Amino acid sequence: MAFTHRIGAHTSTAGALENAAILAHAAGANTAQIFSGSPRTWRNPMPAPAAVAKLKDARARLDVNPLVIHANYLINLASIDPSNRPKSVDAFRGELERAAAIGAEYLVLHPGSYKDQTVETALDRFAEGLLEASRGMDSAALTVLLENTAGAGSALGSRFEELAAMRERVSGKLGYRIGFCIDTCHTLAAGIDFTTPEGMKSLVSSLDSTLGLENIPVIHMNDSKAPCGSRLDRHEHIGEGHIGCEAFGRILNHPRLASKCFILETPVDEDGDFARNIAALRDLSKKPRVKA
Ligand SMILES: [Zn+2]
Ligand SMILES: [Zn+2]
Repeated sequence: MAFTHRIGAHTSTAGALENAAILAHAAGANTAQIFSGSPRTWRNPMPAPAAVAKLKDARARLDVNPLVIHANYLINLASIDPSNRPKSVDAFRGELERAAAIGAEYLVLHPGSYKDQTVETALDRFAEGLLEASRGMDSAALTVLLENTAGAGSALGSRFEELAAMRERVSGKLGYRIGFCIDTCHTLAAGIDFTTPEGMKSLVSSLDSTLGLENIPVIHMNDSKAPCGSRLDRHEHIGEGHIGCEAFGRILNHPRLASKCFILETPVDEDGDFARNIAALRDLSKKPRVKA
């Protein structure tokens, strides 16, 4: 079946790398996000070439495109902690190498934390860390995406201006492209109410003027358990949180967003939850265009 939208979910690679494509397809997805190692371990092995070949084969056969990798949660390239910083740089280097080996189109990275420093110096530290981890890395096929955050505690990246400043600081100095991933739950939690037609219009225009819509290939589609401005990163099933189906429909049917890659990171409370959320987005994507 040919779909008009690229919709998928964060998928397990347990047992075999190729399972990502097989499970995604079985759940009704035509794109997927994976971890390339354990998300809570500093060091992860490179994938075996035979496993990568099988994944590429399964992706081509089942049309699972693009493939997104989400980086490890421990990485904080803005860190000034003498023990955490080198580990973060090393771990991100590993992420880049694995993403290139696996043939993923996108690698999503959280911007880290400005703990014990100002936001400005943290942005500098982040840029230095990213450049250090990327030394000699050349990949025309890979784009690293900085993800916006809910802004809990000292998390960087809840303001689009911070994401733009990070990209600006490394622009022209990397052997791969850099862009952004926008998470709907994080956006609402950070205080941007896009649940009304006017709110959506203002979100799209601020994304375009601050980050450039062409630099945002991936959107994380998560409803939010917590209300607007809560700064709480709590994902909810589509339509069951504070964002609601109408707002997701407006995103999917927005003429300038419809061609993005939509990835669910919604809870898995029971078997089939991803398939249900994917079906919910597919359904909303078919609705006649809502005025955005
Ligand atoms: Zn996300
Ligand atoms: Zn989140």
